[in-house]
Amino acid sequence: MATGSLRIIRHGEPDYEGARRAAVWRRNVPDRYPAAIAQAHSATQVAEAVAVARREGLPISAYSGGHGWTSAHLRDGAMLIDVSRLRDCRIDAATRTAWVGPGLKGRELNDRLAVQGLMAPTGHHDTVACGGFLLCGGFGWNFRQWGNGCANVVEVEVVTAAGDILRASATQHSDWFFAARGGGAGFFGVITGFRVRAYPRPAVMRANTYVFDLNDLEPVLDWLLTAGPEMPAYAELLAAASSYAPDGGWAPSRLVVSALSFSNTEAEAEAVSAVFRRCPLADRAVLSRINLPTTLEERYALSTAADPPGHRYAADNLYLSADGARHAMPRIAELFRTMPTPRSHVFWLYQGKSPLGEDMALSAWGEIYVAAYAIWDHAADDAAMESWATSGIGALSPWSQGAQMNDEAMFLRPDRYLSEHAEHRLRTLSRTHDPDGLFLGFLTRESAAAEMPR
Ligand SMILES: Cc1cc2nc3c(=O)[nH]c(=O)nc-3n(C[C@H](O)[C@H](O)[C@H](O)COP(=O)(O)OP(=O)(O)OC[C@H]3O[C@@H](n4cnc5c(N)ncnc54)[C@H](O)[C@@H]3O)c2cc1C
Repeated sequence: MATGSLRIIRHGEPDYEGARRAAVWRRNVPDRYPAAIAQAHSATQVAEAVAVARREGLPISAYSGGHGWTSAHLRDGAMLIDVSRLRDCRIDAATRTAWVGPGLKGRELNDRLAVQGLMAPTGHHDTVACGGFLLCGGFGWNFRQWGNGCANVVEVEVVTAAGDILRASATQHSDWFFAARGGGAGFFGVITGFRVRAYPRPAVMRANTYVFDLNDLEPVLDWLLTAGPEMPAYAELLAAASSYAPDGGWAPSRLVVSALSFSNTEAEAEAVSAVFRRCPLADRAVLSRINLPTTLEERYALSTAADPPGHRYAADNLYLSADGARHAMPRIAELFRTMPTPRSHVFWLYQGKSPLGEDMALSAWGEIYVAAYAIWDHAADDAAMESWATSGIGALSPWSQGAQMNDEAMFLRPDRYLSEHAEHRLRTLSRTHDPDGLFLGFLTRESAAAEMPR
């Protein structure tokens, strides 16, 4: 739905720097300068912007909500196509699907679905947009039961390098459909809409929490490796360390273990709590809350308090097998115990066995997910903070089973974000459907070095 005309802001024009900064959610906006930023309101306007870029010989990148941790869309000399204004949300309760624009926030989608008694596995933070979340794979609410965000995409609308607008699904333009589900910045078009599945909203949401002293980390993570496979699929099981207290204060570093259940009955919720109650270290917990009623609103508020806007961020991640996580325990412990600022945090997430059977680019997986997020305020600390995240995660790389595209840091530390087969297919499709290499693709040290500032 177009609500304005296409606006192209050139480098040097008065509104340029505001538009460039708006493309990055975090405060540490990289020093990379597109030649022009095209603000589109519709797929047709995106096609117009692609035509302008082609005419002027500018390579293209696109963004939806700007949460990507390395901002692969911010590229020197490019035409940056901003689709954050494409925010359609049309719900079809009969088929339990929703048509969403890439700029729509996951929270907005879930607020709209709630009215129909539905819910979708969007990102855990208020402001993450559907565009990048779904294109990169997406670990959303109840992901173990409902699958990754992109596994719930049934159709996409794409503007191609030729300026065509097409619809892709499992049965038409299936190459594009493969690439749009997990291809991330390697996608060779601009996505202007997604049709996604929704689910009946779980009737009983419960939170189970233990808080331990960080000294108990190793035995607690050991227990989680046993508890994970016992946990019903409708529970998100994670351990996180942070010394930030939600009331705004600072606490000594603690290990918070949480199992959030999305169930339909009390008995189902109790099955999750039962695994928690069997924790042999329960009496060492400094706080314990079992089977507490909670709401999606409350969970969004907690996630947003943990990752508030207005700060500088660096993130890195990788997947491990359960065995790998056991072997890497001393290095994981080191990561948890060396968080560089009170707000920084580390995640250890139980993902379970790979559900990735479908024909989609999303293809890296490990039973355990570990991610490090540095959060700080002063530019002088940028290098040290990035280095903590990437060297701490890098220390686990001997056991790496790949890395997750949503938290990608490939510009800072290479890892395998796609299976070899999926990466080969994505690159081959990119050459076929974008033969002139108009779309810039992944941002790595090598690609950045090749892109000369214009
Ligand atoms: C505070 C915070 C919380 C987060 N929580 C979660 C979470 O719970 N689960 C999870 O899985 N991830 C999470 N993430 C990671 C997030 O999902 C990814 O950064 C995702 O890419 C964000 O989508 P976006 O549209 O906002 O980002 P963008 O930065 O706009 O997109 C990321 C990249 O995707 C490409 N792209 C984006 N839109 C398009 C498009 N329409 N067409 C073509 N290419 C496009 C570009 O290369 C862009 O650089 C979180 C990130 C932050 C900052």
